Amino acid sequence: MLKNAQHAVAFTGAGISLESGIPTFRGENGLWSKYDPKFLELDYFYRNPQEAWRLNIEVFYQHLARTKPNPAHRILAGLEKKGLIKAVITQNIDNLHQQAGSNNVIEFHGSSNRLFCIECNQQVEFKWEYLDSLPPTCQNCQGILKPGYIFFGEPIPEPARTLAFQAAETADLFLVIGTTGEVQPASFLPVIASRNGALIIEINPAKSNYYLDITDIYLPGGATHFMTKIEAGLAGQ
Ligand code: NAD
Repeated sequence: MLKNAQHAVAFTGAGISLESGIPTFRGENGLWSKYDPKFLELDYFYRNPQEAWRLNIEVFYQHLARTKPNPAHRILAGLEKKGLIKAVITQNIDNLHQQAGSNNVIEFHGSSNRLFCIECNQQVEFKWEYLDSLPPTCQNCQGILKPGYIFFGEPIPEPARTLAFQAAETADLFLVIGTTGEVQPASFLPVIASRNGALIIEINPAKSNYYLDITDIYLPGGATHFMTKIEAGLAGQ
């Protein structure tokens, strides 16, 4: 099916990075079982930037410092190089698709790799030295720097939003990997792809919100396991 597809798109969530050691939000041992989601609320960040930063480092940045892409990220990158996948839309903010070699990555929720000044909107590439004292500040105007991923209460960044919806509308195969489908509006993307006629293939050890309504082929297991099988299947043809 991948070989026959003209415009296959992958859509990934926190589950694809679990095997790289980054916890998911939901599910057993998910971050929400240990942390109050308020640390990702925009209002909380504005009121308590130092504490919000401390928690964001604890939850995301310290994991990101020691994680590497896993075979699922690498196989997706290989499929793009072969022309079998046109784009990866990811909800993840961990930069692992790019590290694995994917080029056309649409970061629907932004990225930990960038920081934004909340005063002058200047964007800088993330460097650990920015976190020497919290909250980090802008060299341009001394405003507070915020992670380049979106918090609750923020709009989806452009051009990622437009590109993602366009990719979902034009896809003829949508490979959904490791997402519950609970975070809106990202959760609409597979639904839009399905309504436009795309075949929905889903890899997830647990049945997601898509399973009953739109999933055409459900592969019940981990991302690495099934992406390795897909790679072997393509090589065997
Ligand atoms: P989620 O935490 O809500 O759900 C994770 C999903 O992954 C579940 O459906 C689970 O069954 C599945 N899963 C578990 N192990 C898996 C495996 N080995 N292979 C494949 N799937 C597996 O994640 P979500 O739906 O992506 O949404 C949560 C939001 O959290 C996203 O918006 C994302 O921005 C953010 N987030 C990102 C990261 C990251 O960047 N790595 C980590 C945590 C949360």
